Amino acid sequence: MKKLLILGAGTAGTIMLNKLNETLDKQEWQITIVDQHETHYYQPGFLFIPFGIYSRKDVIKPKRDFFPVGANVVNSEIEKIEPKQNRVILKNSQVLTYDLLIIATGAKVVPDETEGMKGDLWYKSIFDFYTIEGACALGNYFKNWEGGKLVLNITEMPIKCPVAPLEFVFLADSYFTERGIRDKVDIHFVTPLPGAFTKPKASSILGDFLNKKNIKLTTEFNIARVDNENKKIVSWDENEVEFDVLVTIPTNMGDDVIERSDMGDELNFVPTDKHTLRSKDHENIFVIGDATDLPSSKAGSVAHFQADILIENVMSVVEGREPKEKFDGHANCFIESGFGKGILIDFNYDTEPLPGKFPLPGIGPFSLLEETKMNHYGKVMFRWMYWNSLLKGKELPIESHMSMAGKRG
Ligand SMILES: Cc1cc2nc3c(=O)[nH]c(=O)nc-3n(C[C@H](O)[C@H](O)[C@H](O)COP(=O)(O)OP(=O)(O)OC[C@H]3O[C@@H](n4cnc5c(N)ncnc54)[C@H](O)[C@@H]3O)c2cc1C
Repeated sequence: MKKLLILGAGTAGTIMLNKLNETLDKQEWQITIVDQHETHYYQPGFLFIPFGIYSRKDVIKPKRDFFPVGANVVNSEIEKIEPKQNRVILKNSQVLTYDLLIIATGAKVVPDETEGMKGDLWYKSIFDFYTIEGACALGNYFKNWEGGKLVLNITEMPIKCPVAPLEFVFLADSYFTERGIRDKVDIHFVTPLPGAFTKPKASSILGDFLNKKNIKLTTEFNIARVDNENKKIVSWDENEVEFDVLVTIPTNMGDDVIERSDMGDELNFVPTDKHTLRSKDHENIFVIGDATDLPSSKAGSVAHFQADILIENVMSVVEGREPKEKFDGHANCFIESGFGKGILIDFNYDTEPLPGKFPLPGIGPFSLLEETKMNHYGKVMFRWMYWNSLLKGKELPIESHMSMAGKRG
């Protein structure tokens, strides 16, 4: 029997397990997946917890509910990958060998990378919402907060779901308006980017939304440290922003196992061919999802599009052919914008988000770079699609390659 090993059973690893289970010849191949946790977190749902829209129970399910019957699952932390020996060492000293390896160990937030971030005020006046713990702590805090300076700061790029920080401030505007204290809350979006978002056209349109919603924008702010005593963040060029509550998106990094295995860049992301998703250093290793160093967005929708490409390329290698299928960087993100509305962006490596209708030209029902109720329903529906179709590796009604149909250039 040949062995295919998947590291990480989050969004990308679970999709790949389901697809491979359908496709690979089980007389010839044994598939194994390894993860340290037994609970699957629907991370896009973390955004809604601080505002009381979702609670913890709305974003968790057992991982096993999404594994195919009879799947070979190992529940353990991964200690080290040894690519030269084609083997992986687990925390419990178990050794797993492989013929083909798929790395899907994702990305995590590392607040310790910034001086003072995890100081005295951590989870008292400084919160993240990229972890279940942070999102729940902030939700509890907001319940009794009477208002003041609310600062959202992105530490550095890349981050998972680069639109989530914008969604956070849009929802904060809506939440505090509904609570009748919006006039007492000063919302400030502080980013290292030159604008509200990574892509120029969308950045200008999303910047206008910030303006319209009375959210202050400070750009090109590269945080050096958090001053807990005086409640301010300080940039490398000594600019300062004061806060009463700081909501931080800490540095995002690949897992420590990548560093321990000496397989990553300075942020522990694995160098990956941007089209084939093959590791740049090892022919029998592929990488998918947030673990890659690709310039595409780190998002569940992207992991799903990548999986459509990766299954073809893995099958090519299994059959002794060169991997030919090409990932184009396609990302499709609903941006919750508050008051029951949302915005949609659809883009890839070469085409930035453009206005228009999606997926049907002239019809939609979704509108690109516009705020509509229908887009909000798309965001709400995404959770159902995630649990019921996406994780199970089923086809979704969106092509894995980006289409120009309906877009106005
Ligand atoms: C607040 C927030 C909002 C988001 N909103 C959206 C959205 O609206 N739309 C969207 O498409 N995406 C969104 N995302 C992004 C999306 O959740 C991720 O891009 C997606 O989950 C990536 O999948 P992955 O499989 O690469 O990583 P993950 O799903 O994080 O899985 C990685 C897995 O690897 C395991 N692992 C890692 N290291 C080890 C180790 N050493 N040993 C054992 N196991 C290990 C982990 O336990 C985990 O199960 C959001 C993310 C956040 C945080």
